[in-house]
Amino acid sequence: MFSFAFVITVNSIAIANEETNIAYSARVVGDNERARIVVDFNREPQFKIRYLAKPNRIIVDLDDTKIALGDDQLTSRGILSDIRYGIMAKDKSRIIFSLKQPAVLEDQQLQVLEGETYRLVMDISIADQNEFNAVLQEQAWEIVDAQPINKKAVVKGNRIRLTETKESDQFVLVLDAGHGGIDGGAEGRNGAIEKDITLDFVKELQQALKDINDVELLLTRDSDQFMSLSARVQIARDAEADLLISIHADSIRQRTLRGASIYTLSREASDEFASNLADSENLTDVLAGLHIENAPDDVTGILVDLARRETQGFSDVMADRIVDDFKGQIKLLNNPHRRAGFRVLLAPDVPSVLIELGFLSNLTDEKLLTDPQWRKKTTKLLAKSISDYREAVLRERE
Ligand SMILES: [Zn+2]
Repeated sequence: MFSFAFVITVNSIAIANEETNIAYSARVVGDNERARIVVDFNREPQFKIRYLAKPNRIIVDLDDTKIALGDDQLTSRGILSDIRYGIMAKDKSRIIFSLKQPAVLEDQQLQVLEGETYRLVMDISIADQNEFNAVLQEQAWEIVDAQPINKKAVVKGNRIRLTETKESDQFVLVLDAGHGGIDGGAEGRNGAIEKDITLDFVKELQQALKDINDVELLLTRDSDQFMSLSARVQIARDAEADLLISIHADSIRQRTLRGASIYTLSREASDEFASNLADSENLTDVLAGLHIENAPDDVTGILVDLARRETQGFSDVMADRIVDDFKGQIKLLNNPHRRAGFRVLLAPDVPSVLIELGFLSNLTDEKLLTDPQWRKKTTKLLAKSISDYREAVLRERE
């Protein structure tokens, strides 16, 4: 039994729609040996509890459930180092409990409460790594579908061409709003969340690009949904894209640091800062429990190396162009064109750049990044960079 006091704080939320299953209240109690997690639902939840290793995590996958919890309801404590939740796929949500040390589920109960609401109670207690590995091995693990829900073709005639060969005058651009769903990305000091900033930016850029003729635009995501890094790369490759631009916003301990930076792929990071940043951006897939490979399987061999070298050249040209167009208009970091091993830039045949719009850890940047005026100005400049790049690429093809 539990030795600590169990405080129940019932959240009196009005449940508007009986059709939707909502996780409307939750709490965590615990110490350094165990934790009890309680989640309340308005309807009977369909769920699966699973384990993930490296790092050790316990996850709860929920079907068709909206997670509507206050910021303070799932606070990590005791053996839990971190708790996150969000949308994984169209009809799947996930709660992830990261463990400070190996721990296993001792007991789980689904109770029916008064008024036909449901309470999921999970009791977790510490174990050694062998025990954890044993339950990990035992579990029947179906891979949760974290593939793109739909590939959305937008604007300019709605042409989406995945099999035919591309016409020489076509220019396909893939815009990638970083993070999404379960993966919120960086958080601002005033509460701005990276995944929202990137999506807003991409949508504004889509508007700004409407004036440019003959850009076929694909968005990797157009809503708050999770997508793995490899799925983002695959969308660009399948579309034989001429350019991929991935949008992000950074966060760092040094709160005075601000400004945008443009990244291209490199095995060796240009500095330690770039390397740490790439590591944290690459965490996306780890967070969702996806297996990480070093590179896509077909990315091998000398031909790929050649393609990659050419692609790298184009990526560098684009990054420098953006830096030039931003200069004097948008605050930039020192040496704004940087290089590091971002997984989303790995397509060997698609020139790819990643833009860190600024630092959410800096109050001025956070304000700008959430300001529609700043967004309009910046996307306009970027649309110009894209247009000029397109011209240059098409000229080269002639
Ligand atoms: Zn990011």
